[in-house]
Amino acid sequence: MVQVRSYYEILGIDTESTVVDIKKAYKEKLLCTHPDKNRAVEAQNVSIEEIKEAYQVLVSPSGKEKYDRELADSYKKQGFYNGGEGLEDYSLDEFSYDPESSEFHMDCPRCQMAQGFEFTESLLEEHCIERKEGGFYVVVQCSACSLWLNVNFDVAEEYESS
Ligand SMILES: [Zn+2]
Repeated sequence: MVQVRSYYEILGIDTESTVVDIKKAYKEKLLCTHPDKNRAVEAQNVSIEEIKEAYQVLVSPSGKEKYDRELADSYKKQGFYNGGEGLEDYSLDEFSYDPESSEFHMDCPRCQMAQGFEFTESLLEEHCIERKEGGFYVVVQCSACSLWLNVNFDVAEEYESS
């Protein structure tokens, strides 16, 4: 099933965080004394049990490594799905395109992960869903947090002829 929140999200850190960062984030989360408003709001949605669980896994280098692998696998499986009602809409134009690798990417607007959104042109074609009102969309997830986006686009002319 779709994982609602990664341990990184629970602690408000990214996957590059060091043990020191993780310990710091853990203390801040538990005490809820961080002056940053967004973190304080986030903290209200997370239970102490979740924070402790996330911390215990991530603070151990081997635990973090194992978790990172599991997370990467689950994101690979979840990378595209077709139930994206009510998600935030983005236009494909907002993604940068690398013609060499045929990949689109964008930094995550929520967790700020560099190229948190990344997908190839062929995946786009394979997973696109037609809109009744015209055009297409795909649903993609950030590789670092649980943010899903609708990416809207019109069919490029080169796909229409065949
Ligand atoms: Zn993200």
